[in-house]
Amino acid sequence: MDSNKQMADLLFKNITKTPDDYEQMYPKRNLEEGAVVTRFAPSPTGFLHFGGLFAAFIGKTATKSTNGVFYLRIEDTDKKREVENGVSLIVKGLNDFGIEIDEGMLSETDEKGAYGPYTQSKRKDIYQAYVKSLVEQGLAYPCFMTEEELATIREKQESEKLLPGVYGEFAKYRDITVEEAQKRIENGDEYVVRLKSPGKEDKRIKFKDVIKGEIEMPENILDVVLLKKDGTPTYHFAHVVDDHLMRTTHVIRGDEWISSVPIHLQLFWLCGLKPPKYAHISPIMKEENGGKRKLSKRKDPEAAVSYYSEVGYPKGAIWEYLMTLANSNYEDWRLANPNEDIDNFKFSFSKMSKAGALFDMVKLADVSKNYICRLSAEEVYEMVTDWAKENNKKLYKLLVDDEEYAKAIFAIERGNAKPRKDISAWTDVENYVSYFYSELWDRKFDFPDNLSNDDMIEILELYKQIYDENVSSDDWFPQVRDMAETIGYAKAPKVYKKDPDSYKGHVGDVAGVIRVAATGRRNTPDLYEILQVLGKDEVMKRFDEAIESLRG
Ligand code: GLU
Repeated sequence: MDSNKQMADLLFKNITKTPDDYEQMYPKRNLEEGAVVTRFAPSPTGFLHFGGLFAAFIGKTATKSTNGVFYLRIEDTDKKREVENGVSLIVKGLNDFGIEIDEGMLSETDEKGAYGPYTQSKRKDIYQAYVKSLVEQGLAYPCFMTEEELATIREKQESEKLLPGVYGEFAKYRDITVEEAQKRIENGDEYVVRLKSPGKEDKRIKFKDVIKGEIEMPENILDVVLLKKDGTPTYHFAHVVDDHLMRTTHVIRGDEWISSVPIHLQLFWLCGLKPPKYAHISPIMKEENGGKRKLSKRKDPEAAVSYYSEVGYPKGAIWEYLMTLANSNYEDWRLANPNEDIDNFKFSFSKMSKAGALFDMVKLADVSKNYICRLSAEEVYEMVTDWAKENNKKLYKLLVDDEEYAKAIFAIERGNAKPRKDISAWTDVENYVSYFYSELWDRKFDFPDNLSNDDMIEILELYKQIYDENVSSDDWFPQVRDMAETIGYAKAPKVYKKDPDSYKGHVGDVAGVIRVAATGRRNTPDLYEILQVLGKDEVMKRFDEAIESLRG
């Protein structure tokens, strides 16, 4: 028997299936031409980074527009980094932002789809079958180097400024015989399985990244580890096997992996597999002290996606924002098509930033305001109560205790051509609605400084007498105007400006006093609508209170 075959049998006694068997088990997908199959492949470290959400969003967007498949694969080969409930956290993160998967992990234990298991730790036999086949072809070997030996070569390479890693003269076990391997294994020596890289030092490879364009790099010459001492694969190898068998067309991932592409392409070729397309996403950057740095898990609360759920950014707003980060032409498209579904925008990998999109909180708030102002009162009500249930119990109770009232509040100045943009996230709602609820309102009246208390009392006393709850919105302001004139106020600001000495003020001042008496505030949405929602009894009560406070 040839010695490679003997070595493979020695290392993988229990592996009976071959790559061909797996080829049959996971056949080519039957999809339309051009359909993108991609995945979100996080490690369950207990933290979903905004950059991860961004990558998942890009994957989802690319598959949606091509009728492809988006799946969630859990990369848990590094047990040191894993935390309890790590998968649930990722699943919740994606759910919270409405990024639905077609296949993959649904919880810690459940999954859906015909290309699983979708958790790497459950795929050990599959990886080993592929490594066994490489050993059989003389393309991989067991390496018994100890930590000390590895440290020694690392030091030598450092001091001589050589490429770090196991290759050439440093690859001590490259030509190990079956006999020696057997002896060592019987002796209980630990080993990893390494690639026997056929790479040449002076050769370069070229590939086309769908985001970054053409890239040229030195070919891989390292005998990288394929299987660790415990038989689990490294990321490099697992990704090759998984992305092939799951029939992935595009690997979308952070660009910290770009330097590993020569290893990955070599592995695909040596396994006789067609590599997928690569899309390397630049990290999300943040401006700081005039410079730029990566959005950091340690320094920035907004690096965690849980932050956005807590603050209450609706998922639609987050999508809007993610798309502005993804494609710079999205904002113009949105301006031209304010009511169009985001799915109708033509996303393109090539329009993604090569340098790293800049995260900007002010912009996010602005995008979110624009999104929220286009929602219906019912939608706002549903989303706010959903959020408040978890995050603001007091507000939640008020909203569900009188649903009609709450919806009437949210309907104010909504649904018209120029809706107001007062709310950027659901945390803003308590303040926004506070004067509608005695439980929330501080009953402080922020009266203007340009009128005397007596003048303001006069306005309120008179308005109390004429206020008619059944007046139409068209007739409401003329009524205030007429009243203003009868007590010495100009009926319009420009009339007042022409001859200020003849008036106490103008109609705007009068309406302002009414506004403060009804709401406590100088700035509010449409006053007529507010008075209607509050109802006459409440309005009268507030005017009395306001008059009393003016009397001191
Ligand atoms: N598990 C890898 C990571 O979290 C995934 C990279 C990839 O998507 O292939 O960085």
